[in-house]
Amino acid sequence: MSRAYDLLVMGGGPGGTSAAITAARSGWRVLLVERGRFPRHKVCGEFVSTESLALLKWLLGESQQDLLQRALTLSESRLFLDGRMVRVPINPSAASIARYDLDLALWNAAENAGVTALQETTVQGIRGEGPFRIATSAGEFRGRAIINASGRWSNLKLAVNNSSGTRWLGLKAHFHGDREPSVDLYFFEGGYCGVQPVRSPDGSILLNACALVGRGVAATLEEVLCRHPLLAARSRSWTAAFAPVTTFPVILRQPVPVSGNVVNAGDAAGFVDPFVGDGIALALRGGNLAARNICTFLGGQSQLKQSLEGYERAYRRSLRPTYRASSLLRRFLGVPRGLRGALLAACESSPRLARYLVEATRSKAGELQQDFYQQS
Ligand SMILES: Cc1cc2nc3c(=O)[nH]c(=O)nc-3n(C[C@H](O)[C@H](O)[C@H](O)COP(=O)(O)OP(=O)(O)OC[C@H]3O[C@@H](n4cnc5c(N)ncnc54)[C@H](O)[C@@H]3O)c2cc1C
Repeated sequence: MSRAYDLLVMGGGPGGTSAAITAARSGWRVLLVERGRFPRHKVCGEFVSTESLALLKWLLGESQQDLLQRALTLSESRLFLDGRMVRVPINPSAASIARYDLDLALWNAAENAGVTALQETTVQGIRGEGPFRIATSAGEFRGRAIINASGRWSNLKLAVNNSSGTRWLGLKAHFHGDREPSVDLYFFEGGYCGVQPVRSPDGSILLNACALVGRGVAATLEEVLCRHPLLAARSRSWTAAFAPVTTFPVILRQPVPVSGNVVNAGDAAGFVDPFVGDGIALALRGGNLAARNICTFLGGQSQLKQSLEGYERAYRRSLRPTYRASSLLRRFLGVPRGLRGALLAACESSPRLARYLVEATRSKAGELQQDFYQQS
């Protein structure tokens, strides 16, 4: 195995695979290093927003298109809050894809694109300002450029001080249960739980229940399901398909796309509130943007510094607005109950108003798609 690459990518989730595939398809030698092993379950609502589906299709390549054919379509969301239910149409539709399948398909697509992909290999440290060296459990590797896509909580604490802010607990499991086709968000004091249908690896339709709760609110998914009366009643007949997976701490964080000469992509750059359902999209798009900017350096059209500045600019323009939108939505949840009730009542009687408000918080799909087509 070669020890020298054009690009080193740390982390094999949606952010890392997106970056690796993009650079490899431009002809560069890419090493992708992942600590874990795919497939595996991951704490995630598994809502893949409309805005990223075209990019996902492109990244998967011919061999992995089956993933999108098997994906379930989500065309309505229901929000259960303060004793009300607000329906929000999702148009164009989003997709429900199990992380068990999504991450494996992207990993396979990276290998098919010619990426050297190492699983069960942990990056222990980085040296240099360009060129770079990484120390891993499989020895040392060299690269002209590097992308950190190691997620929101890794041993490579490059982006920022991760320790401040509210520390949330994330929990998820798949259940055998009812056949409601919508994405349902149940809000309660100190957290929320999302429920949506998802296809299991054997093809059957299950329910994904995924929650984010404050400390002391609930310690198990069983406790979470009892926090909202409608959810408690609905879930009474459910049976878990696998033991719940958990993650702690989850800390919401504004983005830091570059640290020194290292590019951060996906959750390693910033972590957006999961209820906007955009983390996967941000990771796919961030990885793609990062790699495209780095490719200008690899191809000799810019200095490393200039390519990093290009990425920062692109990030600010097309990804950062999502963080602002999620902060706005979170603030809305914190407004006095009476005021919130008035707006909810208006949305309850007018799905068009609800849809308008939700769309105002989202990036423009057309604008997003242009990004990667321009290059390919
Ligand atoms: C409760 C909850 C619900 C969510 N629901 C949704 C949702 O419905 N829709 C949505 O779009 N997003 C959702 N998200 C967010 C989404 O899961 C993330 O935004 C997404 O996984 C980010 O992808 P990534 O590639 O940046 O990071 P990750 O998917 O975390 O991948 C990072 C990878 O890096 C690896 N790694 C870490 N350190 C090292 C190292 N030192 N060496 C090598 N490898 C390393 C890890 O093993 C991991 O596989 C949710 C998150 C939470 C917590």
